[in-house]
Amino acid sequence: MSTKNSDWYEETHENIALRFRLKERLFDAQSEFQKVEVVETCGNGKLLAHDGMIMVTEKDEFIYHDMITHVPMFTHPSPKNILVIGGGDGGTVREVLKHPSVEKVTMVEIDGMVVEASKKYIPQTSGQLDDPKVTLHIQDGVKFMKESKELFDVIIVDSSEPIGPATPLFNVDFYKDVAARMSDDGIVVSQGESPYYDMKMQKVLVEILAQVFPKVHIYNYCNMSYPSGLWSFTYASKGLCPLKDFAPARVDQKFQYYSPEIHVGSFLLPQFMKDEHGTHLTSLPKLGWQ
Ligand code: SAM
Repeated sequence: MSTKNSDWYEETHENIALRFRLKERLFDAQSEFQKVEVVETCGNGKLLAHDGMIMVTEKDEFIYHDMITHVPMFTHPSPKNILVIGGGDGGTVREVLKHPSVEKVTMVEIDGMVVEASKKYIPQTSGQLDDPKVTLHIQDGVKFMKESKELFDVIIVDSSEPIGPATPLFNVDFYKDVAARMSDDGIVVSQGESPYYDMKMQKVLVEILAQVFPKVHIYNYCNMSYPSGLWSFTYASKGLCPLKDFAPARVDQKFQYYSPEIHVGSFLLPQFMKDEHGTHLTSLPKLGWQ
């Protein structure tokens, strides 16, 4: 079978590359912020990419959106007012709306082209963006955080890599504004990079969070469409512990990836991560056998 480059969508990550056999290129344009592409792959469905970095594929987006959403949403006792920063493909908002306690979801996405391309080509993730509970702002999340007067129960920073428009989201001033807009039992989770290839950046983000929040944790998931497949989210709160304050009985519906066992297991880190992050991570309650 031909392997001409034109038959593949390729993301390079320093000295490695990830390729998806292409069926068709559907969308390719330069917005004010980034190059936005949507392609149809062979076997992984549609793929959304920004500046050559894969954001979602239809085949495995459920993993990322389950884990960035349901871990904080089931740790919080009754999340009502939710903020999503970024999240232009709409998958995180789709998962947030599965929680009956939710009264309002605000999504702040800097690039309207991402939302329009996702609505046109990837209804699987963007299908709920017009839900009456959702308010969409096409705006810089940093600016929104500075100007908002609201208090949020869960804040989900579903941003791209810390390059381009997302750079200021990996910054202590941003998280000081986040903390100011969080209720006392509020939780913030963020896209936490790959512990395998981006440990330096992940440590920067954890150290920023540790300057602002009393509780800082990391949890892992496997995402086949990201380089290395091992990827993390950061969790920070003013008090709620993702294990001690998590009540498995709250999980009253079935998801494709998330479950109470996955919730707990995702915080049990491989040794190299515990060694790298050391004291910046808040210690978790010991399990029975520890
Ligand atoms: N799953 C993806 C990943 O892990 O890279 C992230 C999904 S979503 C497509 C990331 C979104 O963050 C993009 O649509 C991007 O435009 C948006 N974004 C980047 N910087 C932003 C900012 N400062 N304010 C709001 N949205 C931002």
